[in-house]
Amino acid sequence: MPIFSKESLETLRQRVDLVDVLSAHMDLKKSGAAYKGLCPFHDEKTPSFTVQKGDTHYHCFGCGAHGDSIQFLMAHLKMSFLDAVESLAQRFNVPLQVIESSQEYTGPNKSALKEALDCACSFFQLMLLHTEKGHEALQYLYKRGIDLDFIQHFRLGLAPEEPGMLRKVLNGKFIKDEVMADAGLITKKESGLRDFFQDRITFPICDAAGAVIGFSARKYKEKTFGGKYINTAETPLFKKSKVLFALHHSRRRIAKERKAIIVEGQIDALRLIASGFNIAVAGQGTAFGESHANELINLGLNEVYLAMDSDEAGRQATLKIGDFFQKAGIEVKVVVLPFGEDPDSFLRSKGPEAFLKLMESSTDYLAFVVKVYSQKMNIESPAGKNELVQILTKQIRSWEHPLMVHESLRKLAHLVRVPESMLGVGQDYMPNIYVKKAGNAGLQSIDPDKILESDFIRWLLLAGHLSKNFIELAGLNIKTEDLRLEICRRLYEAYLECYRENTPCDLLALAIYIDDSEGQKVLSEILQKKVNLERAEEQYRETLKRILDRNWMEIREEVKSKIQSAQCSEEEVFELTKKFDELRRNPPIILNCRF
Ligand code: ZN
Repeated sequence: MPIFSKESLETLRQRVDLVDVLSAHMDLKKSGAAYKGLCPFHDEKTPSFTVQKGDTHYHCFGCGAHGDSIQFLMAHLKMSFLDAVESLAQRFNVPLQVIESSQEYTGPNKSALKEALDCACSFFQLMLLHTEKGHEALQYLYKRGIDLDFIQHFRLGLAPEEPGMLRKVLNGKFIKDEVMADAGLITKKESGLRDFFQDRITFPICDAAGAVIGFSARKYKEKTFGGKYINTAETPLFKKSKVLFALHHSRRRIAKERKAIIVEGQIDALRLIASGFNIAVAGQGTAFGESHANELINLGLNEVYLAMDSDEAGRQATLKIGDFFQKAGIEVKVVVLPFGEDPDSFLRSKGPEAFLKLMESSTDYLAFVVKVYSQKMNIESPAGKNELVQILTKQIRSWEHPLMVHESLRKLAHLVRVPESMLGVGQDYMPNIYVKKAGNAGLQSIDPDKILESDFIRWLLLAGHLSKNFIELAGLNIKTEDLRLEICRRLYEAYLECYRENTPCDLLALAIYIDDSEGQKVLSEILQKKVNLERAEEQYRETLKRILDRNWMEIREEVKSKIQSAQCSEEEVFELTKKFDELRRNPPIILNCRF
């Protein structure tokens, strides 16, 4: 993760215009000394979402949503803290000065790369739509039922066959070779610089804010060298393990409805989106990994539909991808397409309503798995059934979510018609909660103190309209020295200070205050997770209580081991015992303030 200089963050903070940021995503109208609009965080008919002129915070009088530009991008577009900072810097044209980077990236800044990619995207569009060379590719797309609206909406293009054309055009726009190379548009070969994409139809891949970060390119002539699709290679912007094709079109509705459809091909995903299923992403078959699953899970997913091609590769991808989600306690449904069809061909011939019906009649993951295995082994024979049960109970027990494990074992018993007790249903099962938590928060090591104190800081930073109450309650109960982690202590202190001085504590201000790499890294990690504002107060109190309990237990244990150490005098033991009893009689309680 790159670390930005204090000066550049300060410049950004001064230049960010909240109304400008918001206007890109919602309608705001001037009303007296304020701007008002329909709140994007709850359904309403009369506007209660308000920004006072010159203020760096928004507030909704309907649902209490409250925050600054960064919080808006994080909450509305589900961006990470770092992505939000970078997208603001790009929008307000502030070059972020990188002073340190844990990933050793020292090349041109990301805004320059995005600019080059956007120019390339426009150039590819032009090539497809307005040149003779584009004609053949265009005919190919038309034949596949892809019309002009579709092409323009999704910015499809053509990377030309002639070598060096893209380079010449981008050089003409003062974009340097170095930038193009870092953006993955050209590669350095012994014979010189070469275009990465040649004679292929291009599909841009965008980040959460809609900026192009790479391409997926499909061949449309048999003779073209290489696989059906090639993607941009790993670049500072394009991280293969995280990028999901078309997520940018679907992310908001996925986050809102908490369900997604995963398909194999790029065209399948775009066709679904164009047909109103804008909860679709393409996983690119077996290249879909656990970190892709986590990108979706972090959007708050509850349910996922897998609609892979109806061939062997599609079945294998379904088995593998389904496991990632089941493991995390997310319900997986398998949409079974008629033989030889993919979602694109199905939608074209049968229409969206038929696809919806297919979704409604989807199979659950476990039933699908049993069906796939039973085609390979004879599960009517006792030996075959035993083998199947062995394989599947092992798979199910590797899932982390206890309820999912329990329910799935019961379901399996029913599916293969064996008594539940044979599969160990009801036996104690201890999930490894810390491993899961660490995975979600992106924390490297499993450190309960770090998890607890990060939770505490996260509540303070992301509690929106509740934050005033929360900081008062914290001030009353938690002293800075109650926290173990130096970075959490510093963040807490900075936050308390802002509150005492009555200066708005926005996230950018905090990032400026914490100007070392470790600090910014932890801050960004803390902000990667969301808080659930339902029952927020209860959960927040629980966090405070756990911090106090932890410290109280520790002092008790210390006193106890001193007593037991046999190194104290009679008198000391007497005093220590008194202290121990007093501690035991007075467990910590949360002091209340006015709310
Ligand atoms: Zn609202």
